[in-house]
Amino acid sequence: MKKNFLFLFLSTLLLFTGCDRRTNGEKQSFISLGTVCSITLPKGTRQSVYDAAKQEIIAVNDKFSRTSEKSELYALNRDKSIVASEEFYALVETAVSVAKLTDGAFDPAIGGLTALWNIATEHPHVPSDEEIARVDRSWSDIQMDPSSRRITVPKTMDIDLGGIAKGYAADKAKKTLAEHGVRQGLINLGGNVYALGAKEDGSDWRIGLRDPKGQEGSAFIIINLSDKAVVTSGGYERYFVQDGKTYHHILDPSTGYPAKSDLLSSSIIGTDSTLCDGLSTAVFVLGSEKGLALINRLEGYDCVLMKTDGTIIFSKDFPYKTSYLT
Ligand code: ADP
Ligand code: MG
Repeated sequence: MKKNFLFLFLSTLLLFTGCDRRTNGEKQSFISLGTVCSITLPKGTRQSVYDAAKQEIIAVNDKFSRTSEKSELYALNRDKSIVASEEFYALVETAVSVAKLTDGAFDPAIGGLTALWNIATEHPHVPSDEEIARVDRSWSDIQMDPSSRRITVPKTMDIDLGGIAKGYAADKAKKTLAEHGVRQGLINLGGNVYALGAKEDGSDWRIGLRDPKGQEGSAFIIINLSDKAVVTSGGYERYFVQDGKTYHHILDPSTGYPAKSDLLSSSIIGTDSTLCDGLSTAVFVLGSEKGLALINRLEGYDCVLMKTDGTIIFSKDFPYKTSYLT
C-alpha cells in the first residue's frame, strides 16, 4: 500500500514537472540479478512505466539474493528459521513444488553447494568429495508452516533461489507492465525472456535461442510466439576452467558436481516464467530423455533441447513456428 502510494506520488510529480517523457520504443538495459536485464516497450510509452518494471526486478533481487546481507533469503540462511513475508513464502513454496515435480533435479536446498563451488565468483573452488558429502541438500527437509508463514531449514542447510528468481522477476515485471496498460513488450533477464502480447502490427515476436556453440548473442533457431516466457539454461552461461577441466554452474543435487548432462542447452516455453525457469534448470540436470518426458507430461509447456552432439529435440506437438539459422 505504502509502495503504491509512493509510486503514484512520484509519477504524478514526474508528470507535472515534465520529466516523465514519452520514450521512443528503445531498449533500456541495466544490471540486476547478476545479469544484464533489458526492457523494450512500444514507442510513446512513458519513462515512468519502464522505471516501474525496472523497480520490480530490482526488488526481486533485493529480496531473494543469496549474497546480499539485506535480503530476506540471507536472513533465512543465517537464522535457519524465519517468519517470511507473503511474497518470500510463496516463492519458496513454488521452488519446493518444482523440486517435487522434477524429483529433486531442481533443488532450492543446494545453497550450501553453490557456496562451496563459488562458481559465479572470482574465486571458484573445486571441492573434495568429503566437502561435498558434508553439504546438506534436500528440499524435503525444508519445513513450511502456511498458518504462521514460518520457514525452517536444518542448521546445516542453505537455500538458493538463483535457478528460479530471474523467471519470477520477469513474471513480476510483466504484471506491472500490464497494470500500466502496456500490451506489448519484451523483457529479457539474461536469457529469461518474456514476450508480452504480440508485436504492434499483430504479428508474433521472433525469439532467437542462443547457440550454445556460437558466440554470445548468436542464435541457432527463431521461434515465433506471443504472450509467452522462453527460458534457457546451459552450461555455457557461467563456468570456470581448472587443470583443463570445465566446471559449469548447474549442479546435480544427487552428485554435488556440475550436471553431467547430454544437453548443451534446454529452453522451456510456457506462460509462467517462474516455472519455465525452474524447469529449464531441472531439464538440463535430467538430460534429454527424462527432461523431454517431463515436459511432454506438462500441459502448456514446451521445450527445445540441444544435445551435446548438436541434435535438436522438440517437445511433442510443438505448437510454434520455427526457422533455423545456419
Ligand atoms: P542461469 O542463472 O544461467 O539463467 P539457471 O536458471 O539454470 O541458469 O540457474 C542456475 C543457478 O541456479 C545457479 O547459478 C545456482 O545458483 C542455481 N542452481 C544450480 N543448480 C541448481 C539445481 N540443480 N537446482 C536449483 N538451483 C540450481
Ligand atoms: Mg533456471
